Amino acid sequence: MGCRGTDSWSALLRVVAATDGDGWGTPPVTLCPDLRHRMPGRGAWLHPTPGCFELAVRRKAFGRALRLQVAVDVSAVARHLGLQHE
Ligand SMILES: [Zn+2]
Repeated sequence: MGCRGTDSWSALLRVVAATDGDGWGTPPVTLCPDLRHRMPGRGAWLHPTPGCFELAVRRKAFGRALRLQVAVDVSAVARHLGLQHE
């Protein structure tokens, strides 16, 4: 995603949009790291590195990959990668 490099799934971090019941909840949609690759729903993949993550955020790649029309809250993923996002 972000950097458009290719890699095997096992090397990538999967993130999913957290849903609220059967809907999308109230915006912004929260993105969660899916460490076991088991959470339901559409996922986006990126390298678990700050650089790849920042690139994805700048390009709004998460919203595109997850087909979201609303703002996304990436702070949970940022924290997972050891970054701070406001
Ligand atoms: Zn990457």
